[in-house]
Amino acid sequence: MFFSLYPYSLSSSSFFFFFIFFASPLQCILSRTLQHHHLSFAASVPTTISILDERSFQRFVQASRGSHITGISHIKRYFSHFGYLPLQNITSLSDDFDEGFELALVQYQQNLGLVVTGRLDSDTLNQIVTPRCGVPDMGHGHHHHNGLHSTKNFMYFPGKPRWVRSMPMTLTYAISPENMIRNLSLREIREAFKRAFSRWASVIPVSFVEAEDYAFADIKIGFYSGDHGDGEPFDGILGVLAHSFSPESGRLHLDAAETWAVNFRSEKSPVAVDLESVATHEIGHLLGLSHSTMKEAVMYPSLKPRDKRAELNMDDIKGVQSLYGSNPNFKYESSLESDMSANEASDLVGSKSLRIFLHSFFMFSLVHIFGLCL
Ligand SMILES: [Zn+2]
Ligand SMILES: [Zn+2]
Repeated sequence: MFFSLYPYSLSSSSFFFFFIFFASPLQCILSRTLQHHHLSFAASVPTTISILDERSFQRFVQASRGSHITGISHIKRYFSHFGYLPLQNITSLSDDFDEGFELALVQYQQNLGLVVTGRLDSDTLNQIVTPRCGVPDMGHGHHHHNGLHSTKNFMYFPGKPRWVRSMPMTLTYAISPENMIRNLSLREIREAFKRAFSRWASVIPVSFVEAEDYAFADIKIGFYSGDHGDGEPFDGILGVLAHSFSPESGRLHLDAAETWAVNFRSEKSPVAVDLESVATHEIGHLLGLSHSTMKEAVMYPSLKPRDKRAELNMDDIKGVQSLYGSNPNFKYESSLESDMSANEASDLVGSKSLRIFLHSFFMFSLVHIFGLCL
């Protein structure tokens, strides 16, 4: 965990760029691919906190290959964590803007759908500090063209794992009664997940049924804090929001430190995170989808506080249907309509007063924001 997060756009008028560095990320990084693997012990203790101001931000923006800029090593650590640099270099990361870093930066920009500049431009820095899913990004950012006007941005996990059952299949899920949060009721959480599962079920011949018994559910959902035994400690407020595992693991974990929300009208926190959007995204991983490079897709890795992106995009639908086939009731036209009408951010972040509030929040509370371990 090492890094920072700033919940609204960094622009030329947004001056502060916070980095919170955590010094011992190595153990937690070792098992970070979130494949179906044995759990490993992980520990990550935040030991150093550093705040970079506008001057540091400007230094990053002006850096290019050959530059030596204090703080580059932390961005390298971030890239390592999310799959852009080899893990074994983590202990000896330099502040050099070297060739390997430039290649990682280019691939990151491709995968996140940014303009590929090979520089730490403000859009890229802004993306780096946006809260995101803890699952590393896969693939190489290539866009495959499937014919006229058709581009696919979705990706799979290595080996293209999926649930193998006879079709149509039913998967059971359950929400852990022991790993809960307090600010939402169990009923609100269950309803948010029910809607999230139903979106995927409407496009593929897979149905999801809430199990009576958590122990026997195919999909196990829970809210966890910090190190919770799977080698992927959560990092506190924002930073990494959630993670889940590729088929057929069925584990879906949400960071209990977030202010999870089902209704932004009643939840006023500037760092509130839409539960349904994150649930829908993580279910995509459970089904076998990796991250998409398309910003409008549910499977795009990041989500700003108070944003909603819960409606499946055609990119998500094509991705999951190539794993499971189409639901016989799925109609292409109806999903096109939802593509156009859905996913409008319920955005309060644009208002000036909220920006000031957010700024103060980050100045004074120093939450550890970017957890490295995903
Ligand atoms: Zn994800
Ligand atoms: Zn976990």
